[in-house]
Amino acid sequence: MTTHADCIFCKIIHGEIPTAKVYENEDILAFLDISQVTEGHTLVIPKEHQKDIYELSPEVASKLFRHVPDIANAIKKQYNPEGMNLLNNNEEIAGQSVFHYHVHLIPRYGQDDGYG
Ligand code: 5GP
Ligand code: ZN
Repeated sequence: MTTHADCIFCKIIHGEIPTAKVYENEDILAFLDISQVTEGHTLVIPKEHQKDIYELSPEVASKLFRHVPDIANAIKKQYNPEGMNLLNNNEEIAGQSVFHYHVHLIPRYGQDDGYG
């Protein structure tokens, strides 16, 4: 498993930084974003350190995305949003600030919910 000592998400995976876990298995972790755009804003990451969509291997992508529908349903059940956006920023110009691949799940509660 590739990890980076200076990566904040690798530190979360190794329990060095506390986080509110939403889902975990041996390959992936889902946890609440520290800066909630809307209530229930969740990040899904592979445990393997891969930087962005360009580095993401098909194997790691499939291990991650096969669980995204279940994670989305768990968030929907818990927070009862009206809808949900999925987002993935790649490279700085596109808004990526943590360079360990992640998908945002952003529950939506209406036009004035703070997102979009
Ligand atoms: P990006 O801007 O790279 O698409 O998203 C990175 C996300 O990681 C941001 O929404 C930011 O709030 C979140 N984040 C950064 N550091 C931490 C942290 O230490 N814990 C958690 N839970 N989220 C973090
Ligand atoms: Zn990492």
